[in-house]
Amino acid sequence: METSEQFNKEQIEVVNQSVEMAEELVCNFYKLSVNQLLRHRYDIKTMVDLSPDEIIYGAFAQVIRYEGRKKDTTLGSASYDFYKICIQDHSIIAAIRKTSGLNLFAFTLYIIIHELVHIIRFSRFLQNFEASPGEKLAEEARVHEKTLEILSKHSVAGIREVLDFCNKSTLPIDNVQLVKKCH
Ligand SMILES: [Zn+2]
Repeated sequence: METSEQFNKEQIEVVNQSVEMAEELVCNFYKLSVNQLLRHRYDIKTMVDLSPDEIIYGAFAQVIRYEGRKKDTTLGSASYDFYKICIQDHSIIAAIRKTSGLNLFAFTLYIIIHELVHIIRFSRFLQNFEASPGEKLAEEARVHEKTLEILSKHSVAGIREVLDFCNKSTLPIDNVQLVKKCH
């Protein structure tokens, strides 16, 4: 059984900075205001805020789309979706320990931009949650390309090492899943 090591306080600080920068770069790239981006209704959480079934082994993040419907109404308009980007602290910490030159800021910046691209593509119906495994792989490659394009406009220390790591890593960046939840 692998351990579920969590980020410490300083690491959380670093991740908060990479979330901030990721949102800014994604907004610039898609020409969205921060408010427009936030309308995609997502949350970015690290291990400390994940429930046991949101923690996975064998990927660095998981994006979950929760589908729900408010209890006191039967109208479709009252249904709501939101995305939760579940950062897998333990996998990221292990990768950084094993890989010289891989730094937390650059690595989580890559991961968070990648997940935001998934969410934007889902909400624009460019990506389908019920895709076949082959389609999912093709989409993963497209999301990676977009993420590279977003990052290529900026010089971020350590990004080259992140891209080298992604090319060599046998672990996928993420797992994408749909959870139907009725409240
Ligand atoms: Zn992905």
